[in-house]
Amino acid sequence: MTNSTLSVQSLTKRFKGNIAVDRVSFELKPGERVALLGHNGAGKTTLFKMVLGFLRRDSGDVSVLGCAPGSNPARQGTAYLPESVAFSSALTGEEVIRFYARLKGEPSARSLELLEQVGLADASKRRVGTYSKGMRQRLGLAQALIGNPKLVLLDEPTTGLDPISRQNVYQLIGEIAQKGATVLLSSHALTELEARTDRILILSKGQLVADDELGKLRAQAGLPIRLKVWTKPGAAQEVAAQLGAGRMNGRSVELDCGTDDKVRKLSAISALGNLVEDVDVHPPSLDDVYRHFSNTVQKEA
Ligand code: ATP
Repeated sequence: MTNSTLSVQSLTKRFKGNIAVDRVSFELKPGERVALLGHNGAGKTTLFKMVLGFLRRDSGDVSVLGCAPGSNPARQGTAYLPESVAFSSALTGEEVIRFYARLKGEPSARSLELLEQVGLADASKRRVGTYSKGMRQRLGLAQALIGNPKLVLLDEPTTGLDPISRQNVYQLIGEIAQKGATVLLSSHALTELEARTDRILILSKGQLVADDELGKLRAQAGLPIRLKVWTKPGAAQEVAAQLGAGRMNGRSVELDCGTDDKVRKLSAISALGNLVEDVDVHPPSLDDVYRHFSNTVQKEA
C-alpha cells in the first residue's frame, strides 16, 4: 500500500471510439499542490469525473484515499469545485453554507468560518443573486471545502476572477495544502501557477505528456534561458560583437544559453565592465514549457 491520496493507473476512457483519456498514470501525495494543464478537450474534466466516480472508466485503475472512486469514504474525503457553480439566487451566502454543511453532516459554525477565509464574511447575509461572478466562485470554494476534505479537485478555480481574488484563492489553496490536503486544480492561466504549485501535470489529446516540478520540466525540455544585456548608450554593437552574435535592440543585446553555460555567459558579460549597465535573466516561462510538452504526444493504436 502507498500513502497516496490519489492513485491513477493506466486510466483510459473512450467516447464512441474517440479516446478522451489515454493510459494516464500518476500518484498524488498528501499536501501536494498540483496543476493539471491541457488544451480544450485534452481530457481534464473527463479525468476529474472518473476520479469523482461520476463516469465509468473503460480500463485502468483509480484509488481515492485507498478506496474506489464514488464509494462513501472516497466521496466524504473529496471536495470538488466545478468550472461553473450555480446556487439559488434567493439564498444568502450563509444559508448556502448552512445547507451544504447539513447535507455533509458537518457543524455549521465551523463551516461558516470558511466564508471568512474566502473573504465573504461581510457579504454573508446578502442574497447570492446580488453577488458578483468572483463572489459566487469564492462561495463555491467555501462550499467545496466544508468538512476538511483530503483531496480537493478544482476545475478552473480562478476563471473570471480579478487579480486580488486570484491571489486570495491561491493563498487559500496553500493553507489547505499546509494542513495536509492534496489539491489538484485544472487551469489555462499558466503564468499565475508558476510560483503557486509544487508539480505540473500536462495532458495533451488524452495523454499525460509531463509530470514533474516546473524546474525539472524546464530542465527536461532543454529550452534556452534568455539573457538581456543592457548596454551603455552607443555600446550595443560592441557588446554584441564581443559576446559573439546575439540580437540587438536599441540599447540592449539578447542572447540565449543553456543551464550548463549560463554562468560562463554571465562571467563573459561581467568581464565587459562598464560597457554593460544591467542584465536580465529570463528562464523559459511555463507557457514555453507547456508548448514544448504539448507537442510531444505519441500516437498509438
Ligand atoms: P476544456 O478545457 O475545454 O474544459 P477538457 O480538457 O476538460 O476541456 P474534456 O471535457 O475532458 O476536456 O473532453 C475530452 C474529450 O472527450 C473531448 O474530445 C470531448 O469532446 C470528449 N467528450 C467529453 N465528454 C463527452 C461525452 N459525454 N460524450 C462524447 N464525447 C465527450
